[in-house]
Amino acid sequence: MNQETRPRNSARGFETLDLDPELIAVLQTLGYTEPTPIQRDAIPHVLEARDVLACAQTGTGKTAAFALPILDELLRIEPDGRRRPIRALVLAPTRELAAQIAESFRSYTPGGRICSDVVFGGVGKRPQVTALRRGVDVLVATPGRLLDLMGDGEVDLSQVEMFVLDEADRMLDMGFIPDVRRITKALRRERQTLLFCATQPREIRELARRLLYEPVEVAVDPISSTVEPLSQSVYFVDGPRKLGLLLTLLASDEIARALVFTRTKRRADRLARSLSREGVDAAAIHGDKSQSTRVRTLEGFKRGRTRVLVATDVAARGIHVEDIDTVINFDIPTEPETYVHRVGRTGRAGASGTALSLCGADEREQLASIERLTRRKIQELETPTALEATRWDQPAARPERERRPHARRRSGSGAARRRRSRGRGRRPNSAAAAPRSV
Ligand code: AMP
Repeated sequence: MNQETRPRNSARGFETLDLDPELIAVLQTLGYTEPTPIQRDAIPHVLEARDVLACAQTGTGKTAAFALPILDELLRIEPDGRRRPIRALVLAPTRELAAQIAESFRSYTPGGRICSDVVFGGVGKRPQVTALRRGVDVLVATPGRLLDLMGDGEVDLSQVEMFVLDEADRMLDMGFIPDVRRITKALRRERQTLLFCATQPREIRELARRLLYEPVEVAVDPISSTVEPLSQSVYFVDGPRKLGLLLTLLASDEIARALVFTRTKRRADRLARSLSREGVDAAAIHGDKSQSTRVRTLEGFKRGRTRVLVATDVAARGIHVEDIDTVINFDIPTEPETYVHRVGRTGRAGASGTALSLCGADEREQLASIERLTRRKIQELETPTALEATRWDQPAARPERERRPHARRRSGSGAARRRRSRGRGRRPNSAAAAPRSV
C-alpha cells in the first residue's frame, strides 16, 4: 500500500482538485472555501478510480472526501430518465450517520440531478421501497436494513461502480462485519472501493486486504491525535459529586451547546432528567429511543431548544451538529479511541471547541490510557470544593405512603435477581453492573 499522507498540492482552493466546476460552485454557496486535509489527500486518488483506505475521524470533512468525487463521476455520465441502477453504495453503521451522509450528497448535488436516498431500520420499509423502485443513483444504507431489502428482492447492487464503507471500525464494534461481507458478495468485482475508518485494528486491516485492490492509503488526523484546536481538561471528582460539578459547569454562559456522554443508556436518561429538574434544557438520545424520538430530540438540539444533549457513544456516532462548543465526558470511556471520537464532535472543521472530562477515582486508569493514545497530558482543572453529593443515578425512592404495606421480600441473591430480571428484558439495578451500552 502506498503511504501518502501529505497534501499533494500546495495550492489551496477546490479548483486545484480537478472537480466538476458545477460542484465547486455548489461548494462556494455552502461556504467551503478550501478542501480539508482529508479532502485534499483523498479526492485526487478517488478521481483516478483508485481504491482508497482512508484513516480519518469524524469532523475532518471525510464525507465530502468521498461524496464529491463520487458525484463528479456520476455527473460525467448522467442518468437518462429511465429506471436507473444504483451506481454508488455507501454503508454506514448508524441511522443518524446514514441520514447525514445522504443529506450531504443531496446538498452537494448541483441542480438535484443525481438522486441520493437512504435506507435504515427502525422505520417502515414501504417509503424506502417506493423510492428504490423510482430509481436511486446513490444509496446510503445501514447494513441490517439493506440486507433485509435485498432479501425482499427490492435492491439490485449488481451495477454498483463505487462502494464506500464508512466508519468501518464502528461497524466492527457493532458486530456488522459479517453483514458487510454478505453485502459485498452482491457487488461486482470490478468496482472502486473506499474504506474510511478512524482506527485500524487488526480486523479492519484484514477487511481492507480482502475488499480493496492495491489501495492508496491516506491518513490525516489519525486517531492518536485529537482534532485541533481543542482545549482538553479533566476534573477529578467522585461519582456522587459529578452531577453537582456538571451543574456548576453548565451555569457558565460560555457553554451554549453541549454534548454530554454517559456510559449507559440508563445513566443518559437519568442524567437528562436530573438536569431538567435543575432547570437545564436537556434531553437524552440513545439506541432504545424510537427513531422518531431520536429525530425530534436531535432537531431540538440543532435548533437550540435543547442546550444539553446527553448521549451514549453509538447514538452519538451520527450526530452531526454544527457549533457544539463543549463535549463533556461525564463518564470516561473504557476504550481510549472512543474518547477521540467523542471529542471530535466539537472543534469541527477548524472551529474551536472544549472537551471536559469528569474523572472518578475508579476511572483514572482509563484516563491514563487516553493520554497514552493521544500522547498528550490532559490538563487538570481544580474541582470546586463545595459540591453536593447526590444519588442522581439511583431510581427515585417511592414516597412512604405509596409503598405496599406487606410487600413480599424478593427471594434470592442480588445477582440471581439481576439475572432473572435481565431474562425478562429488564436491566439490572446497579449501573455499575449494567452491560456496556450503545
Ligand atoms: P464530516 O467529517 O464529514 O462529518 O464533516 C464535518 C463538518 O465539516 C461537516 O459539517 C461539513 O459540512 C464540514 N465541512 C466539510 N468539508 C468542509 C470544507 N472544505 N470547508 C468547510 N466545512 C467543511
